[in-house]
Amino acid sequence: MTTPRTVYRPPQVTATAVDPGPEAEEFRREFRAWLSENAPPELRGVGWPAPPGSPHAKALKKWGDVLCEAGYMCVAWPREYGGRGLGPVEVAIMNEEFDRAGVPRVTRGRAETTVGPAIIAHGTEEQKAYFLPRIISGEHVYCQGFSEPGAGSDLASLRTAGVVDGDELVITGQKVWTSGYYEATMMFCLVRTDPDAPRHAGISYVLVPVAENGPGTGIEFRPIRQLTGRSGFAETFLDGARVPLFNVIGGLDQGWRVTVTTLGHERGNRATVAHVGYARDFWALVEEVRARGLADDPSVRERLAWAWTRIETMRFSGLQLLAALAAGQDPTGRAENGSVTKIRWSEYAREFGELALDLLGPDALTAGGSGDDGLGHWQEEFLSSRSGTIWGGTAEVQRNIIAERVLGLPKESRGTGR
Ligand SMILES: Cc1cc2nc3c(=O)[nH]c(=O)nc-3n(C[C@H](O)[C@H](O)[C@H](O)COP(=O)(O)OP(=O)(O)OC[C@H]3O[C@@H](n4cnc5c(N)ncnc54)[C@H](O)[C@@H]3O)c2cc1C
Repeated sequence: MTTPRTVYRPPQVTATAVDPGPEAEEFRREFRAWLSENAPPELRGVGWPAPPGSPHAKALKKWGDVLCEAGYMCVAWPREYGGRGLGPVEVAIMNEEFDRAGVPRVTRGRAETTVGPAIIAHGTEEQKAYFLPRIISGEHVYCQGFSEPGAGSDLASLRTAGVVDGDELVITGQKVWTSGYYEATMMFCLVRTDPDAPRHAGISYVLVPVAENGPGTGIEFRPIRQLTGRSGFAETFLDGARVPLFNVIGGLDQGWRVTVTTLGHERGNRATVAHVGYARDFWALVEEVRARGLADDPSVRERLAWAWTRIETMRFSGLQLLAALAAGQDPTGRAENGSVTKIRWSEYAREFGELALDLLGPDALTAGGSGDDGLGHWQEEFLSSRSGTIWGGTAEVQRNIIAERVLGLPKESRGTGR
């Protein structure tokens, strides 16, 4: 007698098991209808953001323009600044609907989720009027110029200098790990404008035009080759780059509070949706495991069960956050959201990458897959997941934040110097 084969059915992955209310459901109906008419079939299953040199780059740009035209870009920004004024529950619904339709949600990336909110919180009305529409239209694509060779986790030790000359800031120094430099037209950059002030004072947050770069421009990107073989980031050399003082956000020497706003958004903005992509990958792995006849092996099942419980934990914490938001609370800026969420998804992704390679064996390690740059999907997952516990604040630094700000443990010694 043969044992009936186990049939796996991916459960519905939803972020909004919280009752979102009739208005949000109405929004879902409208958006679903719009998406079913407009979603480009050629982008079905294509990921976002696209890696450098992606064959889908043109189609993705066009899809971004369509979304922009229809008012589905920077949707969480207030209407007065060109957004749609959507609350987090509606944004979660949008994400679900993109996921359901199988097409990527093209956004303005870090410009939408970090720089824009920082400008909205700290910019003057003139700065908002100038910079925000250019983010929405896609004219200003930002890269991030925070880290330096001597300033990563300890960002406040940055040394790139900004010297005021008339109505301009003259910037000289070096940044590193500048992601997305290859498509950037702007860089949000931290520079030290008062070298005599205490460490966190004397820093300015400046938006540097970088579309023109190379010899003679004062801005040079030198690509860094990564584990994946791509050069997704670069070293950035600034040598007398001139930027209008108008581009300083939050006031000269007042950049640290703008930085805190930016980093809070960088760490917290995946909280309600982190599980969705991981669930998709999980079921793809289950399919592969089944195809190899491994699905009835108890040790394999145990490891898959481990992964699924982590994904469910992410989904439930997303729901908890959504419930709080739906109840009018806003815990998004708090360490228990930003730092805990960041640790949870980044450490899971690393372990899942290892799990996939373990289960699939040499097949998963062989180059020449169907990925945009020749990497197989599982190789890509494994290699790129290594960086998640580093960028946006390392896992160790997030644990320090949780220890100090959430658990109230004694602060680590950081010395007394500047
Ligand atoms: C894929 C990727 C993309 C990135 N993109 C950008 C970008 O676009 N723009 C940008 O500005 N930066 C970017 N970064 C840089 C990133 O922000 C830094 O790598 C990160 O902040 C860590 O700094 P560091 O590399 O200098 O390491 P360090 O700060 O030197 O840390 C080295 C090690 O020491 C540990 N450590 C440091 N301080 C403490 C402490 N106080 N307590 C306990 N442990 C500690 C760290 O956890 C780490 O393990 C990117 C990094 C990666 C990996």
